Amino acid sequence: MPTLRKTRLTWINGKITESGDAKISILSHSLHYGSGIFEGIRFYAAERGPAIFRLREHIDRLFRGAEKIGMAPEYSKQDAIAAIKKLVMSSGLGSGYIRPIFFYGEGPMQVIPKNVPSSLAISVWPLDSYLKSGSVRVAVSGYTRPDCNATDTNVKLSGNYSSSVLAGLEAVRNGFHEALMLDSRGFIAEGTAQNIFFAGGENENIICTPKPGSILPGITRDSVITIAKDLKFKVLEQGLRIRGIGKFSESFFSGTATGIAPISRIGDVTFRGSRGHITKKLKSEFIDAVHGRIGKYGRWLTYV
Ligand code: PMP
Repeated sequence: MPTLRKTRLTWINGKITESGDAKISILSHSLHYGSGIFEGIRFYAAERGPAIFRLREHIDRLFRGAEKIGMAPEYSKQDAIAAIKKLVMSSGLGSGYIRPIFFYGEGPMQVIPKNVPSSLAISVWPLDSYLKSGSVRVAVSGYTRPDCNATDTNVKLSGNYSSSVLAGLEAVRNGFHEALMLDSRGFIAEGTAQNIFFAGGENENIICTPKPGSILPGITRDSVITIAKDLKFKVLEQGLRIRGIGKFSESFFSGTATGIAPISRIGDVTFRGSRGHITKKLKSEFIDAVHGRIGKYGRWLTYV
C-alpha cells in the first residue's frame, strides 16, 4: 500500500479518495469535447506551514471559466476553497500541486452541452521541480496558439491545450525540452503551459513579455511583473517577434508548475540561462515570496 504522502488524492462530491478510485463516466462530455475548466495551484512549505499561493486568483479564474462554458456549478467559491484546504490537510504534504477541474459528465452525446450535469473534482499530489538540469532549450513551434477570437484564452479550458500537446511533442521529438508558440500574426505568445519573459542585453532595466491576447495571462506572470516593478525594472507588455529576441541576453518561463525557469536557447538564439543575473534575482525573490519570507507579498499566501 503506498503511503498517503506518495499518493494522489482526489476530492469529488464531498468525499476524498485515492485519485485512481475517483470514477467518472466514459461518456463524459469533457473527455470527448475538451470542455473541462481546470486550474493548477501550488502550495509551498512556507515558514508558518503549508501555504497556497494566490488561491483567490486561481479560484476566480476557475469560476470565470465555468461561467464561460455555461456551467452552473453547485459549489460556491467558498466551498471550493474549503475543499482544497481539507484536501491539502488530508494529504499530509508540506508542499505540492492542486488540480481542480470542472467538467461536464454524461448527458446527450452532442457538442452543445444541454442538460449535461457538471461536477467539480480536486486532486492533489507532490510535485518535483520542473527542471532538473538548470536551463530550458525551447523550440519555436510550427503550431500557433489560438487567438482570443478562436477560443477563450483567459481561462484554462482543456480544449485549449490541444496545440500545447502537439507543440510539446514536436519539440521533444526534435531534442528540445519545451515549445514556444507564436500567435497567428507571428508574434511570440507562450509555451505549452508557461508565459515567457525577456531581459538584459541592450537595456538592463527593461523586462519584456507578450501582451494579453493569445496568451493565458498567468498568475505567476502577474507575480513576476509585480516583483520586477517593485525591484524598479520597467516592464513592457508588447508584441515581440522571434527576429527581435537576439537583442536580449536573458529569457525565462513563468508558470505555476514551472515556477521561474531560465531559458538557454530559443530556436537558434542562445541566452544566459541559469547564469542570467536578472532571472536569478527575480527567481530568488519569487521563491522568497512563495515561502512567506517577504512581508509585502504575504497577501499572496493562504495558510491551510
Ligand atoms: N500559459 C498556459 C497555456 C498555461 O497553461 C499556464 C499554466 N497555468 C500559464 C501560461 C501560466 O499560468 P499560471 O502562472 O497562472 O500558472
